[in-house]
Amino acid sequence: MTDSFSNLSLAPTLARAVAEMGYESMTPIQAQAIPVVLTGQDVMGAAQTGTGKTAAFSLPLLQRLLKHENPSTSPARHPVRALVLLPTRELADQVAQQIKLYAKYTQLRSAVVFGGMDMKPQTLELKQGVEVLVATPGRLLDHIEAKNAVLNQVEYVVLDEADRMLDIGFLPDLQRILSYLPKQRTTLLFSATFSPEIKRLASSYLQNPITIEVARPNETASTVEQRFYAAQDDDKRRVIRKVLDDRGIKQAFIFVNSKLGCGRLARSLEREGLRTAALHGDKTQDERLKALEAFKKGEVDLLVCTDVAARGLDIKDVPAVFNFDVPFNAEDYVHRIGRTGRAGASGLAVTLVSPSDTRLVGDIEKLIKKKLEVETLQLDTRPAGPPPEKWGERAEDRPRSRASEGRRREQDPRDALDSPHERRGGFRPAPINRDPFFQKPYEPAPADAAPSWEPSTPRAARSSISANIKPKRKVAALFKSVD
Ligand code: AMP
Repeated sequence: MTDSFSNLSLAPTLARAVAEMGYESMTPIQAQAIPVVLTGQDVMGAAQTGTGKTAAFSLPLLQRLLKHENPSTSPARHPVRALVLLPTRELADQVAQQIKLYAKYTQLRSAVVFGGMDMKPQTLELKQGVEVLVATPGRLLDHIEAKNAVLNQVEYVVLDEADRMLDIGFLPDLQRILSYLPKQRTTLLFSATFSPEIKRLASSYLQNPITIEVARPNETASTVEQRFYAAQDDDKRRVIRKVLDDRGIKQAFIFVNSKLGCGRLARSLEREGLRTAALHGDKTQDERLKALEAFKKGEVDLLVCTDVAARGLDIKDVPAVFNFDVPFNAEDYVHRIGRTGRAGASGLAVTLVSPSDTRLVGDIEKLIKKKLEVETLQLDTRPAGPPPEKWGERAEDRPRSRASEGRRREQDPRDALDSPHERRGGFRPAPINRDPFFQKPYEPAPADAAPSWEPSTPRAARSSISANIKPKRKVAALFKSVD
């Protein structure tokens, strides 16, 4: 926190909403970004979810749009003036809810559209006219194609969580959407990291952007204790249990690289008597919400999740994060461990490194510019639990391995949550998430709750990483068409 909102001369309607939110002072990204966005300049911001970046772009954007505010009921008087694009429906929903709160005393309208939902109610809302449209790329294209959304009066576009949009394979969608927008506009790009692909995207679509960084890109929080333990695949679950036992940790996230691996690990841990839930892209929205709620209530101790599924979660200050698999993409390491040690709280991030992971650990070292030491943890001789299912054919968790094909319709859509498959009606529409628990901070399990990883009688597991998993997608190849 660095500055007071009163220095900004926000319109009284916006200032009132901010005051009602209980914000006392601006967060660093807000203090830096708001004055710049108010001038209408393009911004390239390095900031993660949880830093207050939604207000950092939406408050100045709303302030600038106030000149268009009008009470008319005619849709023509409420064209889309600002477009906010996000990678997942959860994030889109969270951001849209925040924007609604900031705009509540203005006459500016906002709406959110994302995949997995019936298009009709979204269409109705769009047809009535909205000034601020929050959307995931795939569903927005559907609405554009159906002529429900006209974007020729857009003055602001926000590419939020841009790195994740590229990871998911949304670049072709973004390129198409951006081609519908007026050239004369302000573009704001926010990304947790400034990878070469992000810089390339920025150089293609931003004009003389002001770069704003609240922390050095790719920096990991100093409050997170990072440990790397050598572990054969067979021993990984035992290492997790030992760390939990030794440290008296009650709850943790466990990250894995594949949806299949996620389900299997969760089932194995569950069979060993640990209260576990799985969160991955094949789960319905309803199942995800239930798993999260159970974790937040302390009914579940371990949340086994894939990167994309965990991306939009507003769960803060998880005591520990385990990387059961070293992430294929070093930037995911930064995202994963950012789940713990938030807001000054101390956190623990444990990465389990098998012999074949050396290169991936090297990638992480390069990214975070830190020499990492892989330690050996002495395991007791307690036998491991019942055999897990065969780990033979792990599947890639997201369209990464196929992204170089560059075709949205060929991607595995399920973790993207905004897929052409959904749009073709293949998936059951999930209920819109208006559940306030997304907004609630993480609440630890009651102190007296017995950790569920008390000694059991596990047996050894066999696992191996499939040679079919292709580690890194070639996003850069997709940029050819924007050159
Ligand atoms: P965001 O990074 O935009 O997802 O914001 C994370 C959380 O921080 C949200 O719950 C916001 O309501 C909250 N927040 C945003 N700005 C401030 C502020 N200046 N003071 C306190 N909380 C804030």
